[in-house]
Amino acid sequence: MPLTLERPDGVDAAIAALLSAPDAVPIAGGTDLLLDLEAGRVRSEHLVSLAGLPWARVERTGEGWSIGSTAPLRRVERSEGLAADHPGFVEAVRSVGSAALRHRATLGGNLGRASPASDLLPILLALDADVTLVGPAGPRRAKLDELLRGSRDLALGRGELIEGVALPPRAPSAYAWQRVRPANDISQVGVAIARPPGADRWAVALGGVLPRPCRVPAAEEALTAPTPSEEEVRRAARIASTAARFASDRRATAEYRRRLVDVLLRRALARASGGARP
Ligand SMILES: Cc1cc2nc3c(=O)[nH]c(=O)nc-3n(C[C@H](O)[C@H](O)[C@H](O)COP(=O)(O)OP(=O)(O)OC[C@H]3O[C@@H](n4cnc5c(N)ncnc54)[C@H](O)[C@@H]3O)c2cc1C
Repeated sequence: MPLTLERPDGVDAAIAALLSAPDAVPIAGGTDLLLDLEAGRVRSEHLVSLAGLPWARVERTGEGWSIGSTAPLRRVERSEGLAADHPGFVEAVRSVGSAALRHRATLGGNLGRASPASDLLPILLALDADVTLVGPAGPRRAKLDELLRGSRDLALGRGELIEGVALPPRAPSAYAWQRVRPANDISQVGVAIARPPGADRWAVALGGVLPRPCRVPAAEEALTAPTPSEEEVRRAARIASTAARFASDRRATAEYRRRLVDVLLRRALARASGGARP
């Protein structure tokens, strides 16, 4: 199948290019999209490169952290001060594939694919991150939780692009994950926890569940104390491991995933809240 690649050098030109053909799709690092095209999961003859857009920033602003969608993950994880302010987010970024992959893979591409096994979506959900978007109708801001419709399904309008992600100034957080081959495989389960400023409890989000990474409000209710007791942690882990829909596939059985949630939630809480390590 012949492919055309457009390389717009501005946001308006990129949106126009996306609107110019019904099958046009944006390409950032291409680490997911090229495999999807080859496997026929995505059908397109018109790729629109985002490489020329001014969205590779990783910076502290007056409101918190602003991370542009085309920032390669390797740049994100190396950004000064980010790991101190958002340890769980940087743990999640470092867990994505290999260093070589992270030189190409971008934050926007990870969100754009909206994989149930994404390592970045759970921690962004736990941090209650805002996503900034731009499209034919102009810019808008939305909660990630509202945009995530389902497996590989993000609620973007036609011609709309993810511009970046806004994080709070800082938040205690952690991301614990399990996979068979760390650099070459995706997580069987990922558990993110965070306590954004002003929150009266720990937020808990799971990856590796169907149809999309999700928060677990019932487990969060058990985690109001800054350092939850052993009993509270046990209760939250029990609720989290039964509240979500896990699948059995070649990476893990549903039962194994449930057990992982229990262990990984305790581990993440111990790291972020200073409790005892399981
Ligand atoms: C060997 C290997 C290991 C991997 N390991 C992991 C892992 O451990 N954890 C993990 O989470 N992922 C993993 N991945 C998946 C992938 O690398 C990441 O999801 C990556 O962040 C995708 O970014 P990208 O820039 O390459 O996206 P692309 O492939 O360029 O795009 C992905 C999708 O997002 C869309 N898109 C891209 N940018 C935008 C934008 N700004 N606005 C709207 N839509 C956009 C594209 O149209 C496409 O649908 C792995 C992939 C491979 C090949």
